[in-house]
Order: sequence, then structure tokens, then C-alpha cells
Amino acid sequence: MEREPLLSEEAKEQRGSGQEKEQNRYKQLLKRFQQIQPILLTLMILAIIGLSVFLVNEKMNVQRLQSSNSDFRKQIQALQVHDNLVIEKMQRIYRENENFQLRYGPIPARGGNADYPMKPKTVYLTFDDGPSEITPAILDVLAQHNVKATFFVTGNETPFGKEMYRRIVKEGHAIGNHTFSHKYGLIYASGDRFMDEVKRLDGLIAQETGVHTDILRFPGGSNFNGTLGIDFMRQLSRRCIDEGYDYFDWNVDSKDSEKPVQSKETITSSVKEQVSNKNTAVILFHDLSAKKTTVEALPEIIEHLKSQGFTFEVLRKGAYSVKFI
Ligand SMILES: [Zn+2]
Repeated sequence: MEREPLLSEEAKEQRGSGQEKEQNRYKQLLKRFQQIQPILLTLMILAIIGLSVFLVNEKMNVQRLQSSNSDFRKQIQALQVHDNLVIEKMQRIYRENENFQLRYGPIPARGGNADYPMKPKTVYLTFDDGPSEITPAILDVLAQHNVKATFFVTGNETPFGKEMYRRIVKEGHAIGNHTFSHKYGLIYASGDRFMDEVKRLDGLIAQETGVHTDILRFPGGSNFNGTLGIDFMRQLSRRCIDEGYDYFDWNVDSKDSEKPVQSKETITSSVKEQVSNKNTAVILFHDLSAKKTTVEALPEIIEHLKSQGFTFEVLRKGAYSVKFI
């Protein structure tokens, strides 16, 4: 066994001082830790605060995204509604295009050398609101000039009214529905009320003339903006088409309804001016007892239209037509 070397006194001292040194270093470390402890705590608190701010911010971001998402949804819904309206308009254009092609042949492709079929200039004289005291005079002028027109009549159950329905049909004019009462408050109260008015007048016209009319004109026009608004008129016009009717507005206003009695000159010049740039003209006149100047203006208007090369036609279902909505 090897003997442990005896430590000299000096060596013992050295060892003792080594332990002390280690203790001192430990104390120093502890002291330093105690010094930096508040800094560490502060850092931790700051980290927690930072994290909380970050989380709150993220949550707000999510909420913001959710609300903008619902805004987007609303915009998409609005676009879909708009889309449906565009589709309806396109369908109408297709339908009119079909009518056009049925009458005038196929439309050649753009840019080709094919001759475009020239659509004949066509005019539709239309008289609203009769029968009235001036109906016989209107019919006389039309007969004298050998032209046909379209009468959008209202309900008149007097012997004279019935006689006028018969005369209109007998003389080769078209007869259309303008509602029985023509009272805006009644006819535009609801879709059902409107159709009741139309059917009631249809019955009377059929009973007197044997004609089951399938054309109509909305009092005030298809874009009449009454208490139920324009959306109601859109639904109503679609319903009329679904129920087998075609409706017609106008693109030339004789202005004979602007005043109780319009001057003959204004009626004539209004028509001449508005037909000047048109190939197809649907002219609005009124068949009411006070409208004597309308009758007076008619011969000059008809002669002018003839001189401009217009042919006179009557409206019928599917005719190339003017529709406000
Ligand atoms: Zn009317």
C-alpha cells in the first residue's frame, strides 16, 4: 500500500485557501444573480405584456377579417341580383333578335361583305285610352289614308263603347288591352288586381269582337313608378309575358297628353322631329274626348310618314317593339 504523502503545512494552507476561493466565487455568483433578478423579472413581464398585445391584435385582425368577409358576401349578393337583371335583359334582347331575324332573315357576321338586309322603315300608330267621342273621327282619318293602327282600349260597356270595339276590329286595326279602369290606384295595387283588370277587359273585348287580345300597354308605361316601385313593374311585366301577353311602350311621344288640349302644331312637329332618326317608330297618341287636335294633326302626320318611306303596321305579339323595362 502506497503511503499517502504527508502534506506539508504549506500545502494544507493552500488547500484551505482553495475552498475559501470556491465559496467566494459562489457568493459572488449569488450576488450577481440577485443583482440581475429584477432585470429578469422585468424582461419576463415585458415578454408577457408583448405576447398579450400580440394576441389581442391578432384577435382584432380576425374580427376585422370576419366583418370584411360579411361585407364581401353582401357585395356578392348584390352582384348576383344585378347579374339576374342583366340575364333578363339579355334574354329579352335574344327574343327581340329572334323576332328580327324571323322577319328579316339572318343577321350577317360583322366585317363580311354580305349586304345587310335593310329593314323597312316601319311605323306603328297607337291610340291609348279610348273608346271616346273622337274614336269615330280617328277611324275616319285612318280609313281615308288607308293606314292601320293599334288601339289600346279601356273598359266601356255603353252601347257606343261596344260599337267602337267592333268598328276598330272590323276596319282592320289591332285592339290591345290598357286595363279596364285605367285607375293607377286600383290597377297597380297588386299583381292580382292588375291581372283581374286585364282579364275583365279581355272578356268584354272578346264578347264584342271575338278577338282574344294578347297585347297590352301599361297605363303610364311599363316603367310607371307608382307606390309599389319599379321592381313591382318588373315582376308585373314578367307575369304578363308568362301569362301569354306581350306589352308595348313607345319611342315617339306626340305630346298630346302634356296639356288637356295640345296645339296641333306641337303634336305634328313633335312626331316629325322624333321619327326623323328612326327606322321603327311606335307613336303614342291619345283617344280621349278632349284630344280634338290629335285628330286634326293626324292627316299631316300620316302624309309626312308616307313621304319618309314608312310602312304602317299594327302591333301584334312578338312584334319588334319598344319596351322601357
Ligand atoms: Zn293610358
